[in-house]
Amino acid sequence: MIIVMRMGATEAEINEVSRRLADLGLRAHPIYGEKRTVIGAVGEGRFPDRESLEALPGVERVIPILEPFKLVNRAVNPAGSIVRVGDVPIGGEEVVIIAGPCAVESWPQLISTARAVKAAGARILRGGAFKPRTSPYSFQGLGKEALELLARARQATGLPVVTEVLSVRQVELVAQYADALQIGARNMQNFELLREVGRQNKPVLLKRGLSATIEEWLMAAEYIASEGNQQIVLVERGIRTYENTTRSTLDVSAVVVARGLTHLPILVDPSHAAGRRDWVAGLGRAGIAAGADGLMIEVHPNPQEALSDGPQALTPEMFAELMRALRPLVLAVGRTLAPAATVPDQGQVTPVAAGALEGLGLSG
Ligand code: PEP
Ligand code: MN
Repeated sequence: MIIVMRMGATEAEINEVSRRLADLGLRAHPIYGEKRTVIGAVGEGRFPDRESLEALPGVERVIPILEPFKLVNRAVNPAGSIVRVGDVPIGGEEVVIIAGPCAVESWPQLISTARAVKAAGARILRGGAFKPRTSPYSFQGLGKEALELLARARQATGLPVVTEVLSVRQVELVAQYADALQIGARNMQNFELLREVGRQNKPVLLKRGLSATIEEWLMAAEYIASEGNQQIVLVERGIRTYENTTRSTLDVSAVVVARGLTHLPILVDPSHAAGRRDWVAGLGRAGIAAGADGLMIEVHPNPQEALSDGPQALTPEMFAELMRALRPLVLAVGRTLAPAATVPDQGQVTPVAAGALEGLGLSG
């Protein structure tokens, strides 16, 4: 159930509600909104009757939640939540574009992509440091070195960075560098990992599992929220169906359905759904039309040479063209898109030396 506090309810009143819930063996999750606080009550304890809670000072009303996902339920914040990645709000009026290579391969590859996508209007840089590959013999990512390159690209461009965390062991390290932690499709039901990122004070981008239902996806988000981290962004990236022309089938209905079920922002990743670069723009447009809060798109300066997901990577020119084509669509759905930016030329590009970033305050 959720307890909606009155506008201006005091800290003492909120604490008193939390204490009553704790007495019944329930956990209270106060969620501080701009106007009022709501308290999510979850757990296996005994749920009190509504009237007794509604009689407490500061309580406006109590809403029972029937669905199994409670804290991420739309009822908790019917207006929809905004999640900030660095200084970029996701879930507001602006449609946010995240772009970058599948994997960080080198400094020149990363910085040239970062500059190009920023110039075209991307707001957040992506790039895998640890890659979940189907084959153990495929490129697994540059690891810590890639994290340092991402931090340096953030410094050079001002773009916040998102990168995937594959295991519980990596969370602490990745959280030192990234502005947001990505949970990949293959890890969507790695419950230990979900709990661990739920204990971090970093936004989480949660990809939908390859064969996960919408409810399982929302329950995965609930795992993160139940540990205290409410900064979650859902990413629809296509699911496995009998169709095999595309790499996955972009489930546009999931955007529409999830929008009604949860207050969390929702992005669409047309790159992994399409698997082929010439289909990415069309699927991206479908995502925006369905109401997505943004897109995540793979871009590579030279896709033929990419160490992972080359066939689906857009060239910087294709990405700029996609951004131009998105603009009228974004306006048509009543939202905004960041303008193309000018990126200062940082002069000659040199590879980053190991440890060169220490002490520069680039972590976090
Ligand atoms: C990725 O974003 O590069 C990735 C591996 O995505 P997914 O987990 O959706 O396959
Ligand atoms: Mn990829």
